[in-house]
Amino acid sequence: MTSKVCQTGLGSVRIGFCKEVATVFMVTINDDSCSGCDACADGCPASILEFNGEKSFVAGDPCECMGCEACVAVCESGAIVVTEL
Ligand code: SF4
Ligand code: SF4
Repeated sequence: MTSKVCQTGLGSVRIGFCKEVATVFMVTINDDSCSGCDACADGCPASILEFNGEKSFVAGDPCECMGCEACVAVCESGAIVVTEL
């Protein structure tokens, strides 16, 4: 009589996969709505907003936005939109 031996040694071990999904945000500035108050750029923790002396614009990768909406909160023109992708 022969007996089977588990060659892998895994026996009844279950192998699972942990999927981590990161939330991605994107910021846009409506150039026509921006009044040029320069309230938003300095407060961006991702350092992707810049002020060119007349208007603010997204100078870095818009997808590096962290979604904090600090820029949205200070923009009285409603020119900034942060979208969760
Ligand atoms: S939401 Fe936050 S991280 Fe994104 S652009 Fe505005 S200030 Fe920067
Ligand atoms: S806070 Fe709004 S209006 Fe002011 S510079 Fe930034 S985008 Fe333009």
